[in-house]
Amino acid sequence: MSFTSGWNRRSFLSSVGAAAGSLFAPKAAFGKSKDKSNDKINMKHGVDGSPIVPITSGLGSTGDIYAELGVKPLINTVGTVTVIGGSVMKPEVMELIRRGNEHFVLIDELEIAAGKFIANLCKSPAGYTGLVTGGAAAAMVVGYAGMMTEDLEPRMKMIPDVADFPRNEVIIQKSHRYNFDHQIRQTGAKLIEVVTREEMIAAINPKTVAIHFTNIQSDNGKVSGPETVEIARAHNIYTFNDASADVPPVSRLWEYPAVGFDMVTFSGGKDICGPQASGILIGKEELIRWSLMNMSPQEDRIGRCCKVGKETIFGLLKALEIFVNQDYDATLRMYDARAQLISDAIKKFGVMAKPREFNPNALGNVTPRYSWQIDPAKLKLTGNDVMQALADTKPVGIGSFGANAAGLRGRNPGEPAGGAPQERRPRTPRPGRPAPDPNSFGFAVWQLKEGEDKVIADRLVEIFSQAPKA
Ligand SMILES: *Cc1c(COP(=O)(O)O)cnc(C)c1O
Repeated sequence: MSFTSGWNRRSFLSSVGAAAGSLFAPKAAFGKSKDKSNDKINMKHGVDGSPIVPITSGLGSTGDIYAELGVKPLINTVGTVTVIGGSVMKPEVMELIRRGNEHFVLIDELEIAAGKFIANLCKSPAGYTGLVTGGAAAAMVVGYAGMMTEDLEPRMKMIPDVADFPRNEVIIQKSHRYNFDHQIRQTGAKLIEVVTREEMIAAINPKTVAIHFTNIQSDNGKVSGPETVEIARAHNIYTFNDASADVPPVSRLWEYPAVGFDMVTFSGGKDICGPQASGILIGKEELIRWSLMNMSPQEDRIGRCCKVGKETIFGLLKALEIFVNQDYDATLRMYDARAQLISDAIKKFGVMAKPREFNPNALGNVTPRYSWQIDPAKLKLTGNDVMQALADTKPVGIGSFGANAAGLRGRNPGEPAGGAPQERRPRTPRPGRPAPDPNSFGFAVWQLKEGEDKVIADRLVEIFSQAPKA
């Protein structure tokens, strides 16, 4: 293995040094869900750490795979963010992944059957079906490819060279441009930005294939989802709604297709808690068929790099089933109980719980955020100090304070000729962001695993005990 970048090599070596002396027991840190895996499955995000087979040599034989590789594991107080691993799968999902490895199967046949299972579970409108994709971003690639190629093999081989395709333009509201429109552009489609409803209608021409709708930006755009669908239908073009991070509430799985969007995508690896590299595309049967034609296992296709394995398909289906059938009120009570446990542990330092922030009608990442107020008359410590100390916790970090949700950035000499969309667009607000009030701190508890609320509470007690008194 060669690390050409000094950045990589340095941090790799330093983390090896840090990890070498600190073996820890993952079960103690992550809680033990083993014997309770059958009760109240919807209530827990715990993973079953019991091995299918004991590993006695090589990687995994010490019981701590993270230390073996010299990487620092994290407790997730941030949210369903891909850069720290998104979400974790429940034991039932892991079991389906294992069973999905039992046999070979024709992937296209499995995908079509999975699509029907998804459509049934998600109460999709008549004539709609589903597709398991390699993430919501992958769903955009194969979805837009399908719209442009239809079932024409030569076009599937040509893409992303779409200059000669009859339809290769996608209309998008300016406020709906975002980090993921790269996945539309990578198919070769040209984005046409509009602001108003009138501009949207005027932009439609014989080359227009679709209008893209970024669900999380609904309230920033002038044209609503239903209006977008109405305009597209009147002009016989398609609509695609990216609602990747926008469940829960679970009802959106059926509501958005019912609005009339031709295709809607949801991430499988966010709160659905399926495999990280999975997504769901729900859409009109013909469009889903064309999407699958542009995707792995097919070869010489743009979506050949959007591979979904048989194990992932089974895992995603199980995760979706558990997600759809969960009692969300009970889940919310569980989140409250986690925050309460933390509040109870730290109130003796004069650190008091602030009112829970929760908007059940938010467009995405619908989850409560909890925060606490430090009394500056008692402790000389800011909210940022607390978040930094949590992140610095060893051997398991708590949160990833300051880590950029967009991931590794490249060099930027001179710039910004046009600027990448992420430079210009406001980022989606995320739970776990640093608090604006310097004396408060807060985070999300929805991706904690069983027992991690206690780990956080204990660590906060330690942090506040050691903090300088005011
Ligand atoms: C997370 C996200 C995606 C990408 O989803 P993946 O499943 O990680 O590929 C796309 N669009 C939006 C709005 C997202 O939040």
